Amino acid sequence: MSNEKGQLIVISAPSGAGKTSIIKNVIRKLNDENKKSTFSISHTTRLPRDGDIDGSDYFFVSNEIFDELYEAGNFIETAEVHDYKYGTSKDFIDKNINQGINVFLEIDVQGFQKLRSKNVEFRSMFILPPSINELRERIQKRGLDSEGVIEKRMKNALKELGEAEEYDYLVINDVFEHAIQELLEMVINNDYKDHSRDKKLKILQDLLS
Ligand code: 5GP
Repeated sequence: MSNEKGQLIVISAPSGAGKTSIIKNVIRKLNDENKKSTFSISHTTRLPRDGDIDGSDYFFVSNEIFDELYEAGNFIETAEVHDYKYGTSKDFIDKNINQGINVFLEIDVQGFQKLRSKNVEFRSMFILPPSINELRERIQKRGLDSEGVIEKRMKNALKELGEAEEYDYLVINDVFEHAIQELLEMVINNDYKDHSRDKKLKILQDLLS
């Protein structure tokens, strides 16, 4: 086995920007090329949605268990999103990275800010929706949330977009396959320079205006 460590890759996007399916595809393609990669599986106090699998999508835990793990120093970062707690397991990340496995950490902007304030090495990517209308449509189409929750997610999405500029790389999820390809290149090439960053920042400004 090679001694090369895996990378920690932090990815944020407002819910509805399509991040989970993009990351799943990127991880599959990397594994196909024998570049071992995995999702970081967070702990959360939110209830499983239809199709969610415990131990695969999240470790679904009670408030009490979450607090115990927190007190025991098990999380490198935690956040409250939509009134539920989420935490990233330090052991899970260390174990994989030390085995040369890339770990994709899908966290919100609060988590990203917390990691930045710690002594953790990572590369960061933010996935942007192509437009605000598209974002709203995607959130509505998922049909998982009530109208009130949709509004809350939209408000949160705008707040998160305001921080996107802080990330190493921006990816626009306009054409799904392009977004996957771009992310793959960013992960594989450590010195990746994004020559279209200025153009993306302009799109970001438009999204926020
Ligand atoms: P959902 O409940 O829709 O799966 O996730 C809600 C939000 O929580 C998403 O923005 C997701 O990125 C974020 N999230 C999931 N796990 C973690 C975590 O371990 N830490 C942080 N900071 N955010 C997380």
